[in-house]
Amino acid sequence: MVDIESRRLVRQWAGNRCEYCRLPEDLSDVPFHVEHIVARQHQGSDELSNLALACDRCNLYKGPNLASREGGQTVDLFHPRQHAWEEHSKFSSAKIIGVSSTGAATVRRLNMNAPRRVAIRQMVLECGESL
Ligand SMILES: [Zn+2]
Repeated sequence: MVDIESRRLVRQWAGNRCEYCRLPEDLSDVPFHVEHIVARQHQGSDELSNLALACDRCNLYKGPNLASREGGQTVDLFHPRQHAWEEHSKFSSAKIIGVSSTGAATVRRLNMNAPRRVAIRQMVLECGESL
């Protein structure tokens, strides 16, 4: 069980944004999840180094996955505590583009450019918020 202080720290570190798609939590209808990067079913711990803030969509699509199959190869997914987001992904307007194999695999696996998700990010940009 993740304690309240750990949840608070994860939210603070994440700047109240999804650590995968960067959506601000206060612009979401659904509270974000403090998720286990390595799922409990894969012996992931409740340590801070294994926790990340994720929107409901990213958390749903990621599930317990740590990797994806891309072009016949296994590619690690983005790990918010071990990777820098900017080294793996970038924004192109409201779309998220993977700039590494890990970034590209994560964008696909987490379905980050589903039309509704892009539309939400577009609204965020039109409201003058940054992503
Ligand atoms: Zn997200």
